[in-house]
Amino acid sequence: MRETCAFYPGSFDPLTNGHVNIIQRGLRVFDRVLVALANNVNKNAMFTLQERADLVREVFAGESRVEVIVFEGLMVEAARKVGATAVLRGLRGVADFEYEFQMATMNNLLQPQLETVFMMTEKSHFFVSSQLVREVAGLGGDVEPLVPALVLQALRKRLP
Ligand code: ADP
Repeated sequence: MRETCAFYPGSFDPLTNGHVNIIQRGLRVFDRVLVALANNVNKNAMFTLQERADLVREVFAGESRVEVIVFEGLMVEAARKVGATAVLRGLRGVADFEYEFQMATMNNLLQPQLETVFMMTEKSHFFVSSQLVREVAGLGGDVEPLVPALVLQALRKRLP
């Protein structure tokens, strides 16, 4: 049987425990999870694309079924090129739903063969977002419970 592969796109600026949870659960359903960093110009990014990719690789160093790639342009095109079985997305609640519904519908229009699979966040990660992590860490707050240890180290190095 052909290997199944989830294409998990996002900014991952930085990787949070919410992302880690979705990746780990994705591995229960798919043979491989491809963490796909979108190379879109974002001047407000805290970490460079390379730094973000390295952090994901380091956190999942012991898991050969997780790979990291960088993609440009249309997400569905990138997913098609790597032969992904489905796009994997996390849902935190109604706030995510509207946007995710729009994206999934548009992607279905662009590439009807490509399914989008949603996983509900675990309740402990309900309020975790990369943006919140950047904001709280930037103001000197403790984000230890929200990110992997390696990401915490990187944040501490980056911030005064
Ligand atoms: P984006 O730039 O699209 O917001 P992110 O890097 O924030 O990308 O997130 C990538 C994916 O991970 C999205 O599907 C997002 O909903 C999901 N995600 C982010 N944080 C969490 C979380 N705490 N629980 C579940 N899913 C999450």
